[in-house]
Amino acid sequence: AACLVAGVVVGKRVKSRRKWKRVMGVLRELEEGCETTVGRLKQVVDAMAVEMHAGLASEGGSKLKMLLTFVDNLPSGSEKGTYYALDLGGTNFRVLRVLLGGQGSSILAKDVERQPIPPHLMCGTSEDLFDFMASSVKEFVEKEGNDSESSVVKKKELGFTFSFPVRQTSVLSGILIKWTKGFAIEEMVEKEVAQYLQEALIRKGLDMRVAVLAYFSLLIYSEQVNDTVGTLALGHYHDEDTVAAVIIGTGSNACYVERTDAIIKCQGLLTTSGGMVVNMEWGNFWSSHLPRTSYDIDLDADSPNPYDMGFEKMISGMYLGDIVRRVILKMSQESDIFGPDSSRLSVPFILRTPLMAAMHEDDSPELTVVAGILREVLEISDVPLKVRKLVVKICDVVTRRAARLAAAGIVGILKKIGRDGSGGITSGRTRSDVKMRRTVVAIEGGLYTNYTMFREYLHEALTEILGEEIAQHVILKETEDGSGIGAAILAASYSSSNSVDTDTDTDTV
Ligand code: BGC
Repeated sequence: AACLVAGVVVGKRVKSRRKWKRVMGVLRELEEGCETTVGRLKQVVDAMAVEMHAGLASEGGSKLKMLLTFVDNLPSGSEKGTYYALDLGGTNFRVLRVLLGGQGSSILAKDVERQPIPPHLMCGTSEDLFDFMASSVKEFVEKEGNDSESSVVKKKELGFTFSFPVRQTSVLSGILIKWTKGFAIEEMVEKEVAQYLQEALIRKGLDMRVAVLAYFSLLIYSEQVNDTVGTLALGHYHDEDTVAAVIIGTGSNACYVERTDAIIKCQGLLTTSGGMVVNMEWGNFWSSHLPRTSYDIDLDADSPNPYDMGFEKMISGMYLGDIVRRVILKMSQESDIFGPDSSRLSVPFILRTPLMAAMHEDDSPELTVVAGILREVLEISDVPLKVRKLVVKICDVVTRRAARLAAAGIVGILKKIGRDGSGGITSGRTRSDVKMRRTVVAIEGGLYTNYTMFREYLHEALTEILGEEIAQHVILKETEDGSGIGAAILAASYSSSNSVDTDTDTDTV
């Protein structure tokens, strides 16, 4: 009997060792698939710069759309007055009022009304979505009506931030190219976005352009921008060395100031001589140098927008948690280290990225946060510490790849505009010929702001790619609420009432 027991014990050990071997195999494969050596990152940098060129050369020349924004005048910090913004682009809709004090005094006050967007409105009808927004604006304006100081303001100028790919026809308007980040209202694709807002405001009794508002105020529509453009505007408002802006939140994107003569696809059509902000829509960037795994391929196939937004699906908050879920699912199919099958593991997007970040950054000795999230969210209980550590490792691999790729994207932009220390991709100059100028990139988004490990990996990769000497001239500056405040400030810089203030700065871009 003793022999039999010993045999069973040995058999169990062998089985357990085999199980771990299989799991370790899955982990190794993931690590190899996500490898981002500095050599590979530099290939991504080059690919980004080349694609930017191609996207500027002709319409459809690259997966990077390189969209014109018609923003050719960035705020200088001297703007004055009260301005408004509406912000639609992620999980919330917001209405803001911002009071600007002019040179030196900066932003004096802001009021924000935030409404989470009910998920059914993201895939319903345009009327329901825009009525929801218009009601929120109406409430905000009505509240303001009770405030005697602001009710005497005659004219309300507002910026509208709409954070999706839009083919702008002017600074005022544009056509929705496609939805991203889980929104899907088909009837709006290829249609004028501002029109929907306008009509909804009229339905609610608030015509932005012409009608007299409650409390005898006129609401004037100043511009429609992408959230990255708002972020660039806010960055430039505070620091005129700001040349680009990046958002890494639910979705991801970047914009930057391009020389008008480099926008070859529009040569002759653009009247401005200096520069213009280009919305890259970098979420759609693609290159064979991107380290892609089977999990990415499956996630893409299961997404509402397959073959689209490949870069965004590797680096942004909407997707990272789901990549981790897919790896855990694979491991649980290969072995029973996660206990009996949990049907929750098969539910797409159940493991949201903030939860993944919390697991990754769990510094308790017993990894109690990991245990709690596995139990509460994925219904996986009582896994040993060793397995919890494995979960942390998976989060680490997925986040590190994302952050390093985002860093490569940023250097790609710097390379395109000759701020990476190499003099740009067409100059033929060498690093030693080039004197680096102080270069500021405004950056925002929950992944960067709230996820310390992500931020640290991104900074580390930036220095690795650029080298310490060049990297010290490149400053990533976190702005706060570019998509809201930035849009209001842009409304100010496009406002006639500020033109006197900004006359001396007409060539800001
Ligand atoms: C959108 C961009 C936006 C980015 C960040 C992406 O999904 O396509 O327009 O700037 O998310 O919000």
